Amino acid sequence: MKQLQTPYFVIEEPILEQYYDMLTNSLAQNWKNFLVGYSFKTNSLPWLVSYVKKKGAYAEVVSKDEYDLAKFLGYTDSEIIYNGPYKEKESFCNVLLQGGIVNLDSMQEIGWLADLADQYKDRSFPVGIRVNFDLESMCPGETTMGEESGRFGFCYETGKFAKALGILADLPNVTVAGLHLHSSSKSRSVQVFRSIARMACRLGAEFNLSLNYIDLGGGYCGGMDGRPEYPDYFPAVAEELHKYFSPRQTMLIVEPGISLISKCTTFVTSVFDTRDIKGTRYVMTDGSRFNIDPTMIKSSHLFHIESGPDHLLPRPVLTRQVISGFTCMEVDRLFTYEQQPELAPGDRIIYENVGGYTMSLNPLFIQYFPAVYVRKENVMKMVRQKWTPAEYVQKSQWDTL
Ligand SMILES: *Cc1c(COP(=O)(O)O)cnc(C)c1O
Repeated sequence: MKQLQTPYFVIEEPILEQYYDMLTNSLAQNWKNFLVGYSFKTNSLPWLVSYVKKKGAYAEVVSKDEYDLAKFLGYTDSEIIYNGPYKEKESFCNVLLQGGIVNLDSMQEIGWLADLADQYKDRSFPVGIRVNFDLESMCPGETTMGEESGRFGFCYETGKFAKALGILADLPNVTVAGLHLHSSSKSRSVQVFRSIARMACRLGAEFNLSLNYIDLGGGYCGGMDGRPEYPDYFPAVAEELHKYFSPRQTMLIVEPGISLISKCTTFVTSVFDTRDIKGTRYVMTDGSRFNIDPTMIKSSHLFHIESGPDHLLPRPVLTRQVISGFTCMEVDRLFTYEQQPELAPGDRIIYENVGGYTMSLNPLFIQYFPAVYVRKENVMKMVRQKWTPAEYVQKSQWDTL
């Protein structure tokens, strides 16, 4: 079979399905009243977004553009979970009027809601509220924000959350129907989610809340050896939630992103050149760090190597090879390969677990977006063609004045 032109991403559909089913089975076993909202920002490839929709997920969106994308790809307003600090008023109102889920993040949004509720006095508006709380004190060293506060939602410790509840209580046709407790952690541990569930119960009891839903947000691990998987989280979450809530009344919403799509996605690159400079062997590849580590935070990669067809002879072991990307930036180095057989043009380096925060953050730098394939039963279906100048220049104009 002729090899496909690299670089490209591959999504293994059976693995994606396995993870989706693992998620929903675990939820069904532990809290049978549940809903999945797929985090668009993690990877909004149209094929993926449509796939999870078919599986029954809602669209979890955090901007007007993501909202418009969800609508464009067939989600109705009632199938949208609208989160984050950067909503837009008209789409915010649409989702509320059509029975989707909105988790309030700011006083400005409460103002929009008050206007809407006033305009539609005969309608009732159940809304969610994003809670900003000190998860770090419950899980020392585990959160992303650390000792500093998080940036999102209404802060419990400073009384802003209580104040927001007070304002909402004064709106006759508005009810607080849900809590949104998404918090990002470095550890993604079961303990983090247990703590989040505990916080939900604490708020429920302290403010005497009667809730239609608890939204845990995203941030789970998935597909990493030795780390938790979905079935590890939800027994702990359910155990805590049962202390104040019941699945009969309260739905559990989860918003997975990376945990769902990491394991099923690989990025295939080829070596196109090698060079020796001052004792270092640079292995030049047609993939870039910008493709799989666009935020420059990874310190290692999971990968495997497929030797090119022309290299059947034994290869000398080299002390150190620096695997580099195609761009002209010095930082575009992916990893060092130590005490390993020499790599040569035609070899392929295939990076694993690269589904989340990669395609969605890829820049249009030097080489345009790579192709994406979906593999099922050994058939490779192209679901995004490589971008060319035609896509790059769209919506531009270059006539000189
Ligand atoms: C980023 C985000 C998610 C998804 O997070 P993952 O780490 O990709 O699982 C879900 N909900 C909200 C509100 C988010 O900001």
